[in-house]
Amino acid sequence: MIELLGKSKEELRAFCATLGEPAYRGGQIYHALYAERRFDFTRMTNLPAALRERLAKEARITLPEVKQRFVSTDGSVRYLFGLREKEGEFNTAGSEEGTEKSQKRSRRAQIQASVEAVYMPSEGRQTICISTQAGCAVDCHFCLTAQLGLIRNLTGGEILAQALVAREEHGSKSTALTMEEDAGPENQRRNPSKIASGAKARIGGTQLMSGLKPRPPRHKVGTQGPKPGATETAGKVQTNVVLMGQGEPLLNFEPVMAALRIMLDPEGMGISPKHVTLSTSGIVPGIERLGREKVRPKLAISLNASNDEQRDALMPINKRYPLKVLMEGCKNYPLRPWEHVTFEYVMLGDVNDSPEDARRVVRLLAALKKVKVNLIPWNPGELPYRESSPERIEEFRRILNDKGVPAFVRYSRGRDVMAACGQLALLDVGPQSSASTVL
Ligand code: SF4
Repeated sequence: MIELLGKSKEELRAFCATLGEPAYRGGQIYHALYAERRFDFTRMTNLPAALRERLAKEARITLPEVKQRFVSTDGSVRYLFGLREKEGEFNTAGSEEGTEKSQKRSRRAQIQASVEAVYMPSEGRQTICISTQAGCAVDCHFCLTAQLGLIRNLTGGEILAQALVAREEHGSKSTALTMEEDAGPENQRRNPSKIASGAKARIGGTQLMSGLKPRPPRHKVGTQGPKPGATETAGKVQTNVVLMGQGEPLLNFEPVMAALRIMLDPEGMGISPKHVTLSTSGIVPGIERLGREKVRPKLAISLNASNDEQRDALMPINKRYPLKVLMEGCKNYPLRPWEHVTFEYVMLGDVNDSPEDARRVVRLLAALKKVKVNLIPWNPGELPYRESSPERIEEFRRILNDKGVPAFVRYSRGRDVMAACGQLALLDVGPQSSASTVL
């Protein structure tokens, strides 16, 4: 049985040809799957009934199961997705390894196949933060995902599915809140850590996520319609997608691009490149490669330090791609006329938040033409850092702005359900969670 989720239009056309169907049927499946989010073949009414029946026997669409949903008072929803085990990846049957080692791997497999995504509504728009890897090998010291190590790369279908599921559950309606209205799509949340195990419900030829329907936030504090002019299409709420969940996107390049090509395709998910942001820790060859892509999202760099010594200590990847090399990569990045490079800077109290740090950041970015800096207040987690004071953050922002570097303070969403930047790590959040499953 062939998996269709994540397949490009060309692949679906080729698949239809192998069935002896006209190739254009592949385009129809593509449209039904990604533009209309019809995850059940019986709902693909743009196809002849006979083909739908045949697809149900010979193909499948596997969405990740929602293992848990945590709903914040600000309307954000943290999802724990259970993923299908990648064939062969965790199969220890017939292994020549010792029994104990096999059992360890098997146990690890049980908890490995999960990732997290966060849905964040605000007035006139919705932002979906998705993961590109389960765990991460980059080892940034302020990041809880780093503690998991790399579990596995996600497939293009698994990356795409997170956005499809969140969009399907929330449709074009935004549970709009008045708080944190200035928070842009970038850095509303950055990079938590999370795990759950997965299983699938199978219906006919289609594997469906259980409970794929809107779940109203338990602590909704307000609902408003979209702002005039804030919509992508009249009557629709703007959707932003940020690749800022688990994983380093540029270390899983091909599957990430496969997902993005469908996401950014007007005939696929149809999200504008202006509304999709890929965030990297600074994998310079990946940045160069991304710049050569015909279809690509916006670029964000997770900077978090003002000099190499500081960045080496926070982000060991800096030893491989030091700031001089990273800035050179950014300088050479081919920006489109409407585009700028965003630098994310998590404010860590007494670590990287001094006025001198701010002045060094100004000097660091001086050679770049179109940049902006998002300052992200640290979200308390089980790591040895503390928050910068609001005065310190404001002073930092003012220094950047005064020197001509646009800087904004971005407060993370979903702190109360551990959905904010750096907060999440296998944590349940007690009675305010709407979670239906306990890990
Ligand atoms: S911040 Fe991003 S790149 Fe760094 S360890 Fe966390 S997930 Fe990986």
